[in-house]
Amino acid sequence: MINQLQEKYQLSLLLLLAAVAILGVFPFVILRYMAGNYTAAIIDMSLIVGMIVFVAFAYYSKKIRILSAVIAIFINTGVVVIVLANGMDSFFWVYPVFASTFILLKPIEAFGANIVAGASLVALSDIFTVISLESYIVTILMLTISAFVYSNHSLKQFKLLEELNTIDPLTGAFNRRALTTDLDAALSSSERNGSSQLLAILDVDYFKKVNDKHGHAAGDQVLKNFVSITKAHIRKYDRLYRFGGEEFVLLISGMDNHQHRFIDNLRTAIKNELKTPDGKEITVSFGVAPWVLGTTADSWLNSADKALYQAKENGRDCAVFSD
Ligand code: GH3
Ligand code: MG
Ligand code: MG
Repeated sequence: MINQLQEKYQLSLLLLLAAVAILGVFPFVILRYMAGNYTAAIIDMSLIVGMIVFVAFAYYSKKIRILSAVIAIFINTGVVVIVLANGMDSFFWVYPVFASTFILLKPIEAFGANIVAGASLVALSDIFTVISLESYIVTILMLTISAFVYSNHSLKQFKLLEELNTIDPLTGAFNRRALTTDLDAALSSSERNGSSQLLAILDVDYFKKVNDKHGHAAGDQVLKNFVSITKAHIRKYDRLYRFGGEEFVLLISGMDNHQHRFIDNLRTAIKNELKTPDGKEITVSFGVAPWVLGTTADSWLNSADKALYQAKENGRDCAVFSD
C-alpha cells in the first residue's frame, strides 16, 4: 500500500518537475528564436515536448518508475547536448538537471547518472577552456554528494513509514490497514482476469486459556510464533494479516487445485509446531472463502467469518470452506 503512497508522491514530483521545466525553459525557446539561434530553440522546444509526453504517459499508464528513469536519461542527455550546442550560455542548466535526477531515480542510480553525464561534458565539451575544470568538478561533486545523502535519508524514512503503516508491531504480519488496500487490489485482479483467490480467516483455538494459564506475555509469544510458523508454510505471494487479537487473514492467490490440501497441510503444520510454554499443542480453526464473481471486500470477509464460525461449531482444529 505504501507503494501507492510512494507512487502518488513520485507522480506529483513528476508533474512539478514538468511544470518547472516548462516554465523555466519556454522563455529560452523564445529568446533563442528571437536571437536567430534556431538549433538551440529547437533543442529547448524538444525538451519541453519530450517532458510533456513522458509525464503524460506516466500519468495515464501509471508506469511511474520506468517513465521516471526514461525522463532522467532524457534530461541528462538533453543537458549534455544543449551545452555542447550552446556552450557557456546553457552551462548552468547542468546544476538543476543533476539535482532533479535525484527526484527521478534511486539515490545510487542518480549518483551514477550524474557522474556519467558530468564526465561526458568534460570529455565532449570545449567550455572548460573558459571555465575552471577544477571548480566544475568540485561544485558538481558537492551537489551530487549532498543530493545523494539527502535522498538516501529520505528513502530510508519512506521505508520506515511503510513499515509503520502496514506492519503489525507485535507479530510482524501485515496489519488491517494493509489488508483493506490489498483486498481492493485482489478483487480488481480477479475481476480483470478471473484468477482464483482464497481468503481465509485463521483463529487460534482457546487462546484465552493460554493467556489465563501462562500470562499475557506468553500469549504474545504464541502469536509471534504463530506468524513465523504460518509464514514458513505459505508461498511467497501469499500474504498474512493480523485482523485483530488472535485472528489472522490469509490471502492466497493463483491456486486453482489443491486448495483443500494446502489449507489442511497448513493447519496440520501449525498444530505440530505451535506450542504453549509447557509444550502443549495449540490448534487453529480456518474459515475459507474462495473468490466468486460479485465478491466484495465485505462479502468476502463475511463468508470467511461464517465459515470460521462453522469450524468452531464443528469442534475447532478444522477448516470449513464457504462453498
Ligand atoms: P475460540 O476457540 O472460540 O477462538 O476461543 P478463544 O479463547 O481463542 O477466543 P476469545 O475471543 O474468547 O479470546 C481471545 C483472546 O485473545 C482474548 C484476548 O485477551 C486475547 N488477545 C487478544 N489480543 C491479544 C494480544 O495481543 N496478546 C495476547 N496475549 N492476547 C490477546
Ligand atoms: Mg480464538
Ligand atoms: Mg477470535
